[in-house]
Amino acid sequence: MATALAESIRIVLIGNRNAGKSSLMNNIFEKDISIISSIPGTTTDPVTRQMEMGELGPVAITDTAGLDDEGSLGKKRVLKTMETAASSSINIFVTAINKTPTEEEKEIYKELVAQNIKTPFICVLTHNDKEENAEKLDFVLEAPKVKINNLTGEGSKELRELLIKQKDKISHEMTPVEGLVNEGDLVVLVTPIDLAAPKGRLIMPQVQTIRDLLDRDCASLVVKERELYPFYNNLINKPKLVITDSQAFHKVAADIPEDQLLTSFSILFARKKGDLEEFIRGIVNLKNTPEGVKILVMESCSHHRQADDIGTVKIPRLFRQLVQPNVEFDFTRALPSDEELEQYYMVIHCAGCMINRAKMMDRLKKVKNKGVYITNYGLFLGWVNGLLPRALEPFEDLYEEYREAFE
Ligand code: SF4
Repeated sequence: MATALAESIRIVLIGNRNAGKSSLMNNIFEKDISIISSIPGTTTDPVTRQMEMGELGPVAITDTAGLDDEGSLGKKRVLKTMETAASSSINIFVTAINKTPTEEEKEIYKELVAQNIKTPFICVLTHNDKEENAEKLDFVLEAPKVKINNLTGEGSKELRELLIKQKDKISHEMTPVEGLVNEGDLVVLVTPIDLAAPKGRLIMPQVQTIRDLLDRDCASLVVKERELYPFYNNLINKPKLVITDSQAFHKVAADIPEDQLLTSFSILFARKKGDLEEFIRGIVNLKNTPEGVKILVMESCSHHRQADDIGTVKIPRLFRQLVQPNVEFDFTRALPSDEELEQYYMVIHCAGCMINRAKMMDRLKKVKNKGVYITNYGLFLGWVNGLLPRALEPFEDLYEEYREAFE
């Protein structure tokens, strides 16, 4: 099975039109992926492809529109490029060795240097067969760099090595059971197999959790909710943790002792993808929701909507029934501008399974900076269904914080 895009290391190519980004992309993949043309602006929308890159593991490389793209559509594409760069793992600044740095290049370079603490960047100097521009060399003096000839492929090996060297600087995405289990522990996973379950396979959070447990030399017992009671009671040793699908939470909680640590896949993935503490702060502040405020439901991809769609139907309905009847709901898939964000009391974000942690954290930071509360679908539905605080017990500090806030 191919690694999910959201689980791959994201590498983004950034540079002016015709800096050689598309040729570089083709060079890395050793085939024609991006359209190459001498007409500036051939790549209008980001193009992403995946590959295995040695010690970096699975990577997803994105070729973006040129920074100097013109017109109003061009401006939108540049904003999109900046947004893509903000959530990547490594940025590659691509620039022609033979040309004087442009204003756009100076601007983005400053941005990349500022982001370097969080996101490493390297510089690729293309057209190394042409005469070097002294100002350009001076401009990228401090950056880790490599010279490339996209026509012959010269420099590709060095680029790969330089990318692999960034491994330790990449911000780490938590694994599902990180910090919750030790080698030799037994964990019980409860996975309902009903009509909503995909045919013949488990869903990604379940698969990733099993793999994480194997990597940590733990054992997992995977059962459906109906079989949990007999299997659990036949165990000689108490499991370290029980993890269940949220839908089965009540049945599972009733079938195991009260002192058994229990959580849900959605809470593990809210922690993995975002900031669980911040999401819980959002839940705690539900009870203070003033009348007449606006709530923004935000998703990260366009998926097929069902009749009782969770974001546009279920969450607004439950919110009005259980939190505050007099609120207005908006819905978006793109992060709004700072000015637009200011009008909301709270953002309720989807689980973000199609985006990586960096992108989710970037969204979280922008929402939080505007003084807007944020929580996610899993936490909100967990709260609605009475999963909290029990599902937070494995996270001691957060559990205490939550209990104190509701006492
Ligand atoms: S959780 Fe978010 S990213 Fe995942 S499928 Fe739903 S809308 Fe898309």
